[in-house]
Amino acid sequence: MRKYVGIPGNKPAILLVLSVMCMLVFSVIWQGSTAVVSHLDKGHIVILDPGHGGYDPGAITKQGVYEKSINLQIAQKVKEMLEPSGIEIFLTRDEDIDYVPDGVRGKSTKKQIDLNHRIEMAKEVNADVFVSLHVNATASGQESGSETFYHYQSESGKRLAELIQQEMIKIPGMNRRIAKPGDFYIVKNTSMPAVIVEVGYLSSLKEQKKLQQSWYQEQLARAIAKGIANFFVIP
Ligand SMILES: [Zn+2]
Repeated sequence: MRKYVGIPGNKPAILLVLSVMCMLVFSVIWQGSTAVVSHLDKGHIVILDPGHGGYDPGAITKQGVYEKSINLQIAQKVKEMLEPSGIEIFLTRDEDIDYVPDGVRGKSTKKQIDLNHRIEMAKEVNADVFVSLHVNATASGQESGSETFYHYQSESGKRLAELIQQEMIKIPGMNRRIAKPGDFYIVKNTSMPAVIVEVGYLSSLKEQKKLQQSWYQEQLARAIAKGIANFFVIP
């Protein structure tokens, strides 16, 4: 067993370390309690869709990390950050569930039923925008960073995707991708502007660890929340 022996000459160094730590803790708390945007007058409704859930884990790592869990954790953080501004937030799921009735078979049938249910939920709550959250994965493991997709025929979807991606690239260490058009089922079939945010790559060793950590999830959530808020603030 080793005993810690204080070295008198190191006091200023220890104080410096302590004060830096205090500042870091303070800045985290301060950031965490600050709304991303001041209160908005007009009522806006946002539906956040934590991708996958229940039977469908999404991407999985060898270590047993499930995409569906990260999607939900980030969506809950986005909700917390946006609510103080008066924006009404709905989640398509707030737990580990899917919307496929028992007995339904076939991978693509199940997926479509699940997605259709989420699209219907967005319609029912009269959402102004639909934001689906995902984590990417590739076989090579070479890719990293966040990407935001919109339906290629939707101008307002494009604007929302660009505003989110603009905030994403401000995250330290993030690569600088631009919003991209796509023909994904969910952005194609929602009746309001819709985007898919792939927050990062679970297949990237470097990113996989960060994606599971609360401080990094908060940075991602803040960027998404700011992007959404800006969509309503900026004409
Ligand atoms: Zn996914």
